[in-house]
Amino acid sequence: MSIEVKNITKLYGNQIALKAVNFTIKKGEIVGFLGPNGAGKSTLMKIITGYLKASEGTVLVSDFDIVTQKLEAQKRIGYLPEHNPLYLEMYVKEYLLFNASIYKTPKNEVKEIIAKVGLTSEAHKKINQLSKGYRQRVGLAAALIHKPEVLILDEPTTGLDPNQLVEIRHLIKEEGKEKTILFSTHIMQEVEAICDRVILINKGEIVADKNLLELKKNQEQIIEVEFDFKVEKQFIVGIPHLKSADNSFSTSWILTFDTTEDMRSKVFDFAHENGLKILRLVTINKNLESLFRSLTT
Ligand code: ADP
Repeated sequence: MSIEVKNITKLYGNQIALKAVNFTIKKGEIVGFLGPNGAGKSTLMKIITGYLKASEGTVLVSDFDIVTQKLEAQKRIGYLPEHNPLYLEMYVKEYLLFNASIYKTPKNEVKEIIAKVGLTSEAHKKINQLSKGYRQRVGLAAALIHKPEVLILDEPTTGLDPNQLVEIRHLIKEEGKEKTILFSTHIMQEVEAICDRVILINKGEIVADKNLLELKKNQEQIIEVEFDFKVEKQFIVGIPHLKSADNSFSTSWILTFDTTEDMRSKVFDFAHENGLKILRLVTINKNLESLFRSLTT
């Protein structure tokens, strides 16, 4: 149930897309794969799943070599490629039964998977009649159809609306309880919401591989808050643990605290004591964002 990427290099002609990439993902981990466009995420995912050959190096999936033991390895992988290729003229259920037949999954299990990804109400429709969110679910259902141990998801949440985002993230997190998952995304909050670990790639090289708990432990806490009224800095600085306060508008402040204690309730108390209302409050994990920026620009 693990993924071992050993010394993977990929050349497209003269262009190096991946340079000696190494990492191991253990059973049960959910790993976010972050990196700017063109960093090499899709290329590596195609190599891990056996759709593309590396120029150098090996990949083991659940201890099977993706090149020399391809079928055994692929049996254990569920893959949702970028752009989610689907047969649009097929009906949802028909398409999933077709996938099930390829993997010899019993027909009665297809219904279970349809329910699991929340497709029951759409199962009778043609895929081209579905919204983007539901199409993603069909792609996910197809990736899950053979109960794989390892899931490789290439930007599974791109283009979804906020409600669909939450649902798909929840689904990934649930699947992660039993599976090993590597998924790529551009959204840092997504990594924070779902992952145990983040791997950052830039120009074909791994530039960071971090456990998210560790990353959170030594972080500054940043809260962006908007009040219904102008607030002077001299009042703001009275909030405990405040390290700095910057304002974009006089009603909106970016507050940096030097503590890991959750300071949202203190900001709320401040507003209440000063007769202010909070119109918006967001916590920003500076570490992941600044790590991303510093390592990829
Ligand atoms: P990402 O998924 O991080 O956006 P990709 O893996 O798609 O990155 O691309 C990595 C690099 O390899 C890019 O510079 C891209 O242009 C190049 N590339 C990807 N696929 C091909 C291909 N089939 N032929 C030539 N170059 C490619």
